[in-house]
Order: sequence, then structure tokens, then C-alpha cells
Amino acid sequence: MPLPHSKPMPPYWLSYTSNLSKHRTTEDLPQEADVVVIGSGYVGAASAYHILEKDDAGTRPSVVILEARDVCSGATGRNGGHLKPDVYLNAAIYEKMFGPQVAEELTKFEVQQVMDVKRMVEKEQIDCDFELTRAIDVFVDRRVAEPTIAAYKDMKARGYRFPDDLHFIQDPKKAEQVSGVKGALAAFTFTAGSLWPYKLVSRLLRRCLEWGANLQANTPVTAISSSPGSDGRWALSTPRGEIKAGKVVLATNAYLSTLMPEFRDRITPARGVACRIAVPEQGRMAPHLNNTYGIRYGPQEYDYLISRTDGSIVVGGAKQVVLQNDSYWRDNIDDSQLMPGAEGYFTGYMQRMFHGWEDSQAQVTDIWTGIMGYSSDLMPWVGEMPGRPGIFVNAGFTGHGMPRILGCSVAIASLVRGDIKHMSQTGLPAPYWISEERLTSKRNIAREYMAGSRPSL
Ligand SMILES: Cc1cc2nc3c(=O)[nH]c(=O)nc-3n(C[C@H](O)[C@H](O)[C@H](O)COP(=O)(O)OP(=O)(O)OC[C@H]3O[C@@H](n4cnc5c(N)ncnc54)[C@H](O)[C@@H]3O)c2cc1C
Repeated sequence: MPLPHSKPMPPYWLSYTSNLSKHRTTEDLPQEADVVVIGSGYVGAASAYHILEKDDAGTRPSVVILEARDVCSGATGRNGGHLKPDVYLNAAIYEKMFGPQVAEELTKFEVQQVMDVKRMVEKEQIDCDFELTRAIDVFVDRRVAEPTIAAYKDMKARGYRFPDDLHFIQDPKKAEQVSGVKGALAAFTFTAGSLWPYKLVSRLLRRCLEWGANLQANTPVTAISSSPGSDGRWALSTPRGEIKAGKVVLATNAYLSTLMPEFRDRITPARGVACRIAVPEQGRMAPHLNNTYGIRYGPQEYDYLISRTDGSIVVGGAKQVVLQNDSYWRDNIDDSQLMPGAEGYFTGYMQRMFHGWEDSQAQVTDIWTGIMGYSSDLMPWVGEMPGRPGIFVNAGFTGHGMPRILGCSVAIASLVRGDIKHMSQTGLPAPYWISEERLTSKRNIAREYMAGSRPSL
């Protein structure tokens, strides 16, 4: 049966009206600022917020935030709302890439982010449906379950320190009982969060405006001068005129290479899909899911899912259809179109996957796509650009920004404010730091990580 909608629709999250989407603080573009932040997603908002947040009597810098399209209409306004640290899954990859100590640091950083986001939400009293949850990663296919469990056991036996919060359920019966997922073979559980990302960002941006920031929607930066002027400031071109800035923060996610060509092969766009599923009024009550989920099928195939307090579910992934053709996702920046096969994939999803939902009549109410920035070495790129004093990058979260962005933005803000001088003082894991070596490396494992050995059709 066809869904009630057959055309792409705006993401469910953007149904919240923040009155900021087309906001321009001033009619004209300011001609100068101490700091220009390019991009108004989570990275742009969190970076600006921490640059402006004052913990002493000092004066605030002038900050202008430029957004190419409507405010927060990129990946942040389109994501799955899952604040889920990577506690064990990529640990084996990171251990091979960086050694056990750094791999443990990477996990620790993400785990810490859950509580840091919670603290910020509480401090600013942000109404963004934040819930502290237990994430359950459920394996339903032996091809992935077996090697993942084997790697976990092997690392543990060698003394690798997974967080105490990680709980492994090996017995399939128990995994199915605890998760409610049909055909579960094993599961891992750990603390995570869920939230409405657009509401979080809207509130942070409102705070920035209260602190004097100037936000300009629908103002793409088309170029940054190749060197600073004699006054040390950078010139940014836009169709609405030029703006000069002492410091620039690039929070442009997948689009970074349009302004910084050296990132062409370092951060590449990858299109993803998510949807909202709800039980219609005439439907049967379905069990409320108290947890958030990852469901893992064959190699590279997974969904992630949050349960909302209104009873609806937001699910993203659909990799079984997304990975069928590289053109559906790889280097694809068209978030106005749906992914072939995704609607069909999500139709009847809850009935198929979860016990107790069979008669619920749950159906897809909204479905949308969004563009992620995949990093060539899977790590975000954070720091000042080598040889370009005052140009800062905070991008490339590889579809996994929610448990990384806040900490990276705090670090960038400390550098921009001049509180610290070097990345080593930020506490960020070293693989995140921008370096000449990372920039000039020819290695790119993003496609392999995303699609494995599938042929690139
Ligand atoms: C479908 C989908 C589901 C996802 N689900 C999850 C999830 O559940 N959990 C999770 O952790 N992560 C998830 N992600 C990833 C997460 O959304 C991103 O990591 C995060 O939103 C990145 O934030 P950002 O601010 O860097 O990017 P964005 O939100 O994309 O913001 C970048 C902004 O920069 C603007 N911009 C770009 N170029 C210019 C320019 N030249 N001038 C001016 N403005 C410019 C863009 O218009 C955009 O608004 C998902 C992503 C997608 C697409």
C-alpha cells in the first residue's frame, strides 16, 4: 500500500517553529566582526555559544553567524536525535589505528559527552525532550554478531578497559527479552541520551543573540581570502557583500571543501535517511520503548532508533537500501529528495522488528534525508588551520556528531577566545587535531567503513 505521502517532506524536527529559520538580526550584513562562525547547525551554535559564554567580567567578542540556507536546516535538523557514545563497537578499529590507550581515550571522551550535554541542557533549562536512556545494540545476524563478540572478548582478555557501564548480554533469549527485538542473537547496553536536536540548537542560538551575536540566515559564504589583510583580518565574500573577521570558525560539515579545497578528499558528503513512525489514533496501543536502539544486521547494515515520550519512534539508517548504490549516498548533497527504497524499508518496520507492535498499525508519518560529513580517517577535524592563523575548523563528524560536538566546540571556543594556545591543552583526543600530516595523507577509509567491500555501482 502506498504511504500517505510520496514526495520528500521536511524533517519532522523542523515542525517545531523556532521563529529563527529565516532570522536576520540586522537587515544589512555587518561589515566586520571579531569572530565569524560559518554554519548554524549544532557545531556552529555550540561553538558560538561557548565563544560568547562568559565566566568572568571580561567583554564578549562580536560574533556574526552566517548560514547558507535556513537556520539549522542541515544534518542537525535532520538527524536521529540519538546521543549515543561509541562504547565498544569501533574500539577494535581504533585500537588498530591508534593503539589501546588512544582508543580508550576516544571512548572516554564520547561517554563524557552524554553527561556534558545533560549538564548544559539543565544549566540553560533547554526544553529539547532530553532523556537519559539505556542504548541497546542488538545483533540479529551472525555475520556481524560473531566477529564483534569475538573482538570484544579478545580485547577484554588482553586487558583493554571498556567502561564499567557497558553490559554484554550473550544469551539470545535474554537479549530478545531485554530488547524486545525479534530474533536478537546478542546485545550490548550502555548509557546514552535522546533529544530534539533542532530545539537544542535553537535555544543555544537564542542565547547567543541575547549575548549580542548577529545571525544571518540565507547568507552563503562563497570564498575566504587566501591570506589575511594587513590588519590581520580575513575577508569573507557573500552574495550580500563582504565581511571582515579577525577569526573564522568553519562549522560547515559536509560542505567544508567548497571553502577549503584541501578538504576535498578529507571530508566527503554522505547522504543519510531517517523517519518518524507513530501509531495512528485508531491503532492499537504499542509497548512504550524505554530504551534507545541500534539494530545490526549484515556487514555495515544497521538502524538506530529513539523512542519519544509522545509514543512515536525516530529511526534512521536503512543501510540495506542505502548501500545498494553509491549514488544514493556517496557525494550526494541532495537532501530535498528521498532515497530509493527507503520508504518501503521503513513501512511496517516496528511490526517487523519489535514484539508487541504487530497489531499497532504503526506507520511512517514523516521521512527525510540529510547530508553527513564523512572523514577520511573517521575522526573529526578540529583546530586551527596550519599556516592560516585565525581560521578554525570544527567539522567531519562522520554521521556521529551528537556525542562529540559539544566537547569539540568547547575546545574550539577556548582557542578562539585565546584561553589556550594549542590543541594539546584542550583535552580532545589527539586523532581529532588538525595537522599537516592528516591533511596531506592519501589514505581514505570512509567508503570502506561505510560500505565495506560492496562494489561501487
Ligand atoms: C539522516 C541523519 C541522521 C543522523 N542521525 C544521527 C544520530 O542519531 N546521532 C548522531 O550522533 N549523529 C547523527 N547524524 C549526524 C549529525 O546530524 C551530524 O554529525 C551533526 O548534525 C553535524 O553538525 P554540523 O553542525 O557539523 O552540521 P550541519 O547541521 O549540517 O550544519 C552545517 C551548516 O553549515 C551550513 N553551511 C555549509 N556551507 C556554508 C557556507 N559556505 N556558508 C554558510 N553556511 C554554510 C549548512 O547550510 C548547514 O546548515 C545524522 C545525520 C543525518 C543526515
